[in-house]
Amino acid sequence: MRGIVERGQVLQDGFMSIPFEKIQLTETGALPLVDTMGRPLRDLRISVTDRCNLRCTYCMPRAVFDENHPFLPRAELLSFEEIERLAQQFVRLGVRKIRLTGGEPLLRRGIEQLVERLARLQTAGGAPVEIALTTNGVLLAKKAQALKDAGLARITVSLDGLSDSAFRRMSDANVPVRTVLDGIAEAQRVGLAPVKVNMVVRRGVNESSIVPMARWARETGVTLRFIEYMDVGHSNGWRLDEVVSAQELIDTVSAVWPTEPADPGYRGEVAGRWRYVDGLGEFGIISSVTRPFCRDCTRARLSADGKLYTCLFAVAGLDVRAVLRDGSTDEQLVTFLADAWRARDDRYSELRSQSTSDLPKVEMFAMGG
Ligand code: SAM
Repeated sequence: MRGIVERGQVLQDGFMSIPFEKIQLTETGALPLVDTMGRPLRDLRISVTDRCNLRCTYCMPRAVFDENHPFLPRAELLSFEEIERLAQQFVRLGVRKIRLTGGEPLLRRGIEQLVERLARLQTAGGAPVEIALTTNGVLLAKKAQALKDAGLARITVSLDGLSDSAFRRMSDANVPVRTVLDGIAEAQRVGLAPVKVNMVVRRGVNESSIVPMARWARETGVTLRFIEYMDVGHSNGWRLDEVVSAQELIDTVSAVWPTEPADPGYRGEVAGRWRYVDGLGEFGIISSVTRPFCRDCTRARLSADGKLYTCLFAVAGLDVRAVLRDGSTDEQLVTFLADAWRARDDRYSELRSQSTSDLPKVEMFAMGG
């Protein structure tokens, strides 16, 4: 049996409250796996390393992550074989998109071999799984062709300013912004287009880069997405007054080029979309702080050492690596993952306040941003 279950219908195994209007049955006709709020599992973010070659002040501040910081030893990282095996089980549970991240994923030796393994994954019905990657772009000019050849479908580059000074204020590293721009150009050249570029905006630090970044995106054809500065982890000393809200971002850009809201590309898309009225493209905003999207969140995250997190703002993860390494069968593994998703009740961003931001949360670079 294949088909659609109408909203509110009492499903056989007792799920009565479903926030999505319609639930697509799985290819085998089974009910999809959903969490306590009726959210299916669709996206998996895999962090492949906890190391990074930048020290962005809002993510891995240098004062905390200096040369004495104990990064994970190699044996603690999931191997490519382990990642592939886990990813297969996630696909069985409904995952259709896998994003490799970090840390900086291009620092993981042989990353293109992992992409190649994951790009071969298929659902039971033979549908492909989309493989994407998020990078700071520093090593992208060297790696873009190999990633494309390995089967990477999409790439997102993080870039918080266009001038060396603005870039350095955010990244706290001695890397010319040209290095990242060359990486983006190479990604476009090898056919990884449209390249998405994510820009975190922090009040008092890089607001002056908003309009130059929008202009550059319009000219180069990259899809720019502004990210509200979030209270991930606890080492960045986040304060609400440093957040430039989605509305301010829209107003700032629209004052130069009039915009109008665009429809979401797909249900659960995290970025709100705005289109330029003159037809020269669009931009997005990921507004986890002022417009939370927990009710549509279909993501699981896996850290480099194999902890499963069901929310970006989680306080703790489940040790999947232990299950992988204790001789469990695939059936035991898939049951473990399914149980974790069924129990999921996270909606941190909807509950956020200055006091919740003081909770001892896991750092974003560790769980995979
Ligand atoms: N190194 C890769 C990169 O730079 O894209 C992948 C990891 S990085 C943690 C992923 C994304 O998280 C980047 O776009 C980064 O700007 C974003 N990020 C990190 N900390 C953040 C915060 N506190 N608020 C908003 N975005 C954040």
